[in-house]
Amino acid sequence: MRKEIGVHTFGDLLQYFPFRYVDRTKIDKIASLSGNEDFVQIRGRIIRMDVVGENRGKRLVATLKDESGTIDLVWFQGWQWMQKSLRENVGYLVFGRISVFNGIPQLAHPEMDLLTEELATGKQFLEPVYYTTEKLKARGLTAKAIGKLTKTLLEQLSPLEIRENIPVGILQQYRLMLRSTAYFKIHQPGNEEEAQLAQRRLKFEELFIAQIRICRLKIKRHKQSHGYIFRAVGESFNDFYNNHLPFSLTGAQKRVLKEIRMDTVHGRQMNRLLQGDVGSGKTMVALLAMLLAMDNGFQACLMAPTEILAQQHFKGLSELLQHMPVGIAILTGSIKGKARKKILEGVADGSIHFLVGTHAVLEKGVAFRNLGLAIVDEQHRFGVAQRARLWEKNDIPPHILVMTATPIPRTLAMTIYGDLDVSVIDEMPPGRKPITTVHRTEYQRPQVMDFIKEEVKKGRQAYIVYPLIEESEKLDYENLMKGYEEVKAFFPEPHYYISMVHGRQPAEMRETNMQRFVSGDTNIMVATTVIEVGVNVPNASVMVIESTERFGLSQLHQLRGRVGRGAEQSFCILLTGNKLGQVSKERINVMVQTNNGFIISEKDMELRGPGDIEGTRQSGILDFKLADILNDKAILDAARASAEKILEEDTDLMLPENQALNDFLAAQRSKSQWSKIS
Ligand code: ADP
Ligand code: MG
Repeated sequence: MRKEIGVHTFGDLLQYFPFRYVDRTKIDKIASLSGNEDFVQIRGRIIRMDVVGENRGKRLVATLKDESGTIDLVWFQGWQWMQKSLRENVGYLVFGRISVFNGIPQLAHPEMDLLTEELATGKQFLEPVYYTTEKLKARGLTAKAIGKLTKTLLEQLSPLEIRENIPVGILQQYRLMLRSTAYFKIHQPGNEEEAQLAQRRLKFEELFIAQIRICRLKIKRHKQSHGYIFRAVGESFNDFYNNHLPFSLTGAQKRVLKEIRMDTVHGRQMNRLLQGDVGSGKTMVALLAMLLAMDNGFQACLMAPTEILAQQHFKGLSELLQHMPVGIAILTGSIKGKARKKILEGVADGSIHFLVGTHAVLEKGVAFRNLGLAIVDEQHRFGVAQRARLWEKNDIPPHILVMTATPIPRTLAMTIYGDLDVSVIDEMPPGRKPITTVHRTEYQRPQVMDFIKEEVKKGRQAYIVYPLIEESEKLDYENLMKGYEEVKAFFPEPHYYISMVHGRQPAEMRETNMQRFVSGDTNIMVATTVIEVGVNVPNASVMVIESTERFGLSQLHQLRGRVGRGAEQSFCILLTGNKLGQVSKERINVMVQTNNGFIISEKDMELRGPGDIEGTRQSGILDFKLADILNDKAILDAARASAEKILEEDTDLMLPENQALNDFLAAQRSKSQWSKIS
């Protein structure tokens, strides 16, 4: 039971909630079954049993009769055992999924319960159904057995042993069931409504406790953390702003800069998440913040998830800063030996003001003279632990800005980034034409190729993207190569040049091919998703995505964001097979209909479930037993609001009415420490 379903103690068993209930009071009449029902429950006697069929098709067919008619119950597996245990002419309560065979409704492998008095009189209303596994079933721990165990446990438990942990005021405000009642009622509800109220209470509790913890982290940081003070907006910032800024900032960019400025004047550490759709201009905000750090005598670093991106940032920033006395360098894993040593020296003596790089920047040997600001680009997977590593090195931690173009649904952000302050760039630089997105199937491939040709003739560039190559996925690799050959046949040298980039290439080769496309030496880039984030080629106007159905929505949105960066009208062509499933169709429609990353992320969560949104799966943050942040948004909002209100009035939870909550949190903490020790 431990390994299989994670139940170790009585407490765990109590929290092993049923995933649905069977209403034992709703009985269907056999004659009224049409076959369109999902699950049905009927009551009757078995009037005959036969074994029919030959060899592997052998099965047991039992005919059940109620006052309205008869229906066949069928067992294909384990029928010998069923034949022995079923009895004719006694009452059964039968529950199962209905199927239609030769036009006649029947029940295959239904659940059979002898009709006890309790069941017959409808005294037992809702029966909880617990999840179990085949292994456990084999050892007798069927869903029913788990139910029995739980029932016995509840019978021996006094409600006093389940202490309330939500302050009374909140219980009243949201009309929540008492904790002890809820535990009893979720396992043994009298009716549907009780079951729902119990669930609502326990969901609220889960979310509320999580929010209390997250908000406490944030308050603690706001109140107690030390941070460097960037007092002045100085010469570098002003010089750049007035003389080298190539465009005027959007209102949103200005607002975010102000927020960063406010964060850095109080002597507390900034911990800010900057969300902005692809192409919204986060890099410029980053640069201006770095200049602010420099004006106050500090160094700054900018980290990107890949070498290509780091290179691009380095090149872009170097160009922008070329007329200014700023020391800027790049550090990645591939920079070794003398070159690396020289950079480390510059970082240590402070002659390098800005260090751009990959995670190599976080390595042990890298010691800054005085790092005041760390910016993490395109990395929403950069979790709490990694953020913490950034300030291990200093007594006072640097200010931190995490930038992401992967829009995160609001509820998810609240849960994952609840301890961060959030800024949003919700405005695009002026003059962008919205990207036109279309869906095309395999039949239309020739027209798609012709279209690319026309665009290339106009001097534009195009991407053709294939699903990711995993080291092991031979098939993907073959597809990519086949695609490459096809494209090459259609776009022959010397009229056209093609770059190919994928994860199996040596980094240098990838880099060279990438650069050739960036500089315009090649017209077409055939690639896997390695180009997903950040790459900036304003002249590229066509993005063709192969096997679109294999990509996640957020990923598609990221890919699409690679075009539409210049003044030209850009196009995104979603290629799929000729036949598509319902969900695939829906997803493609979302992409065709909107360019708004936030709407797409909400839809993505709806279609895939929050556990599948990139980066959240391993975080453990979404490990709720009952709550589901997609369907329980309203409860989450209420839990968040209550948590904020309570902590605002009583940060340390010292008031008598918050005593129980405080005790609960302390007990949970010591429990989790205990589990680490054992
Ligand atoms: P992202 O937010 O996706 O990182 P970038 O910072 O790469 O976006 O910016 C995308 C493009 O928009 C760049 O070419 C950048 O120079 C340009 N850009 C950024 N801000 C503005 C602005 N206020 N006005 C015009 N162009 C801008
Ligand atoms: Mg960017």
